[in-house]
Amino acid sequence: MIVMKFGGTSVESATAIARVATIVSARLDRRPVVVVSAMGKTTNRLLAIAKAAAEGQQSEALRQLEELREYHRSEAVQIVREEDKAELDQLLDEHFTELSQMVAEIAQVEEFSPRMVDAVSSMGERLSSRIVTLGFRHAGMDTVHVDSRAVLVTDTRHTHAAPIFQRTYARMRETVAPLAEKQVVVMGGFIGSSQDGTTTTLGRGGSDYSASIIGAGIGAEEIQIWTDVDGMLTCDPRIVPGGYRIKTISFAEAAELAYFGAKVLHPATVLPAVEKNIPVLVLNSRNPEVSGTRIVKETVHCRNVIKSIACKTGITVVKIQSLRMLMAHGFLHRIFEVFDRFQTPVDMVTTSEVSVSLTIDNDSNLDDIKDELSRIAEVEVETNRAIVCAVGDNVRGTPGIGARIFRALSGINVLMISQGASQLNFSFVIDATELRPAVQSLHDEFFSTLDPEVFA
Ligand code: ADP
Ligand code: ASP
Ligand code: MG
Repeated sequence: MIVMKFGGTSVESATAIARVATIVSARLDRRPVVVVSAMGKTTNRLLAIAKAAAEGQQSEALRQLEELREYHRSEAVQIVREEDKAELDQLLDEHFTELSQMVAEIAQVEEFSPRMVDAVSSMGERLSSRIVTLGFRHAGMDTVHVDSRAVLVTDTRHTHAAPIFQRTYARMRETVAPLAEKQVVVMGGFIGSSQDGTTTTLGRGGSDYSASIIGAGIGAEEIQIWTDVDGMLTCDPRIVPGGYRIKTISFAEAAELAYFGAKVLHPATVLPAVEKNIPVLVLNSRNPEVSGTRIVKETVHCRNVIKSIACKTGITVVKIQSLRMLMAHGFLHRIFEVFDRFQTPVDMVTTSEVSVSLTIDNDSNLDDIKDELSRIAEVEVETNRAIVCAVGDNVRGTPGIGARIFRALSGINVLMISQGASQLNFSFVIDATELRPAVQSLHDEFFSTLDPEVFA
């Protein structure tokens, strides 16, 4: 068995879904379980609709809902068999009636609670997985839909729920694996449900994670992430075009890249795969002939020092200084306790005795954090920063990398520098306005020659 996950752009239209059907049809002997994201930008659109409702613009919300329904209907109708058209109408009716009831409820209470965010945003995958199931039937495949909420069990942390692995794996073994022996199973990514049956989601971009959880649960031999690029590239193509495809990379390196902003893979994706040692492939649904990127357990030897450059914008730097804490212990503990209390993950930290700088990418509790920290230290906040992260197994133990990085960055103001304990990465913080030139010149420095074994 293999898991094949198709992202939003890969199922954004009738043409895209037909392409997916062709790709899956060609791999039936591997007994695929297909995981799909919401069609195109549906998740963003659903969230915008609910937000409008919460802000009292109910008629605007309903207008956008109607547009979204028409988008799904007009694409789906092109890839559904004549005899399945009634089923399509019925499923659209059911899902959009449920959505308009939610919109009415949100408008009434003027609040968009995390639980409601999940109920609303789950609709994208609930719809797309049903539509893709009909599309596969139209393409002649024997296909069955499984509601992910019946098998992917999570805790109740709405909008970023964590799977309860044992239960989830048991259900996947019992239901999904036997079905996949005979039929093409189609499931929605991103969504699950808590033990009492309430709909939850795994967090934005979470369909990759679903694919990997399902792969681990059914004991798949491979997890394929089909997207809109040829694989993992040597840099983020939206920041600097012209990066090269990485043919093979290790789980550890891929995880680091994902964590530091390479959106091509959700950061949690590698965890279940590593645990069960299942290779993950990143492939292009518009260019299925290309062999993509293979992510494997073993170290991937490479003559280039760096395998890829990731970056993350929207970073806030918090600078904390307290002379009172000179030679005293417990300063870091007190600082981190505050971030912990306000449930704010810290990404990067640099410290020198009484001064600590750290970065966060979620500043929803920043004011509270600042107030609390101000009781023990002077606090300064800088917004609109970016983290750039050069990743590669060779970062560990190759002398002179720091010098090459700083030579490449001459003229750019580097605000923080860090090399984590994994020693797989060298990361630094700059002003977001300098991101493009910084990534471009690092890319020029480290990828002017390529190890043909690793890059294409
Ligand atoms: P999907 O909808 O298929 O999940 P995403 O938009 O989440 O697709 O992820 C694919 C995108 O990730 C690419 O279009 C690309 O812009 C971006 N990306 C960022 N960093 C990288 C990288 N190092 N390699 C490839 N793609 C990257
Ligand atoms: N549809 C969800 C999102 O847009 C999950 C995903 O696409 O991975 O975040
Ligand atoms: Mg994605």
